Amino acid sequence: MDFQVSARKWRPQKFSELIGQEHIVRTLRNAIELNKISHAYLFSGTRGVGKTTTARILAKAINCAKGPIAEPCDECDFCREIKQGNSVDVREIDGASNNGVDDVRELNETIQYAASSSRYKVYIIDEVHMLTPQAFNALLKTLEEPPQRVVFMFATTVLSKIPETILSRCQCFELKPLSHKQIVKQLEVICNQEGIKVGGLSLEKIAKTGAGSMRDAQSLLDQVIAYCGNKIENDSVEEVLGVVARTTLEKLVEHLIKRDSVKLIETVQTIITDGKDLNFLCRDLAEYLRSLMIVKLSEKPEALLDLEAGDLQVLKEQSKGFHADELQQMFSVLCRTESEMKRSSLAQMIFEMSILRLADVRPFHRIDDMIREINSLEEDNTPKKKVLTDTSINLVKDEPNNLESVELSTNRCLDSDSDWQRIKQEICKRKPVFKHYLTQCKVMAFNESKLDLGFSDLITQDQVKNSDNLQLLRDVAKFICNHEINVTLTLIDKPKISATSSSSTLTNNKKAIKPNRDKSEAEIIQDALDVFGGLVIK
Ligand SMILES: [Zn+2]
Repeated sequence: MDFQVSARKWRPQKFSELIGQEHIVRTLRNAIELNKISHAYLFSGTRGVGKTTTARILAKAINCAKGPIAEPCDECDFCREIKQGNSVDVREIDGASNNGVDDVRELNETIQYAASSSRYKVYIIDEVHMLTPQAFNALLKTLEEPPQRVVFMFATTVLSKIPETILSRCQCFELKPLSHKQIVKQLEVICNQEGIKVGGLSLEKIAKTGAGSMRDAQSLLDQVIAYCGNKIENDSVEEVLGVVARTTLEKLVEHLIKRDSVKLIETVQTIITDGKDLNFLCRDLAEYLRSLMIVKLSEKPEALLDLEAGDLQVLKEQSKGFHADELQQMFSVLCRTESEMKRSSLAQMIFEMSILRLADVRPFHRIDDMIREINSLEEDNTPKKKVLTDTSINLVKDEPNNLESVELSTNRCLDSDSDWQRIKQEICKRKPVFKHYLTQCKVMAFNESKLDLGFSDLITQDQVKNSDNLQLLRDVAKFICNHEINVTLTLIDKPKISATSSSSTLTNNKKAIKPNRDKSEAEIIQDALDVFGGLVIK
């Protein structure tokens, strides 16, 4: 017997054999039973999901000797002719190569003649989106006034390229992409019937490489069978398909955990030298990261992942090396890489750079934590704290004509510090909304008789100046200190104060923190990195 490729040999011949398109089958069967056969059908969907197959089964169903019937017999002359592709009344036209207006005109002429023996004359036009606009126009005329007993069946992978005028005259069906499981199941059926033994997850690998297309998966199966004979092994599948072995993926991820860029690049080089397909590697690595994520999040990952026990154990160990958000970031990098690689002639370099980028991914900082950290830094940098490192100090603004001094003694300061904390707590207790204002002010002076609060912006100062608020401040200060305190509010020039206080601190205490103004750019960047994490790109 002649060799027949699996995709043809195992092509569904009846509606009941169609996989994954139950929603369409049901509608078509109902229409046939009610004798409501349309003049034009359009089947859309990705490659290899069964668009022309569905069209052919429909052609059989309406032309079957026992029909029109919800399920063609597949045995009568009409069904057999259609199956073999030599029915004179069912014509299959490739839209990609017959896309001109002349082709459609010729078609329009033949349409006028009645079917020779069949019930319906059927035109199946594949890749119909390839027709030129003029050809579509010519076709439209026929669709507007279709001759009796002529049925058009269009198939397309790009529904968006079909003019609205055509769509509105067709019954449109969108075929679903086939799931991984559906494809694996069909491959199993084929292997069983052909007496081929399959090891490990070979069929899963083939289905995955087929990327949702049954036809592609079946062609790949043919290739693997041609290479392996009647016994399919995992290793041979990897070799034929050009996919990377699981152990290699594990190794790559191990280097990622250690952030070992050199080893990562070396491994990628070896993979390339072995002749593996980088597109597959990118996809497989993304899938591996997804598995790590599932293992990390789920209590029963085995229910969600199709894995062998040993692989699951490795995943569990490796998932401890990543934060969940790191895995998410890495996954997005790989998704972008995959689409960039498809569009570029520099695929290898793009992949290498992305792998290095993966090694630099760091966990995100929670915004709450960052705000807390910044606040604590701000508190550390308030002039008061620095002043406390000295025994006694005069804060002097460095403008010669506007000398202003704030006297603070160490002891008083320590007391006033704790008193101020108590005042703040008491105010927040009495009027919680005040807390916001208090975080925005600085104690300029605080002694037996007065409390001077500095505000860096006028709006906040005005809010506090509001008589109720000011009175509250005075009441609480009196309550805490047990005597009247004169509370005053000052508008301060924030940068000047901090710079002056810092430099004055510096003159008195060489170990004091270096003022911001004198920090080198590198130090400021380092400070930012300490707070936010991240990576210097430029
Ligand atoms: Zn039949």
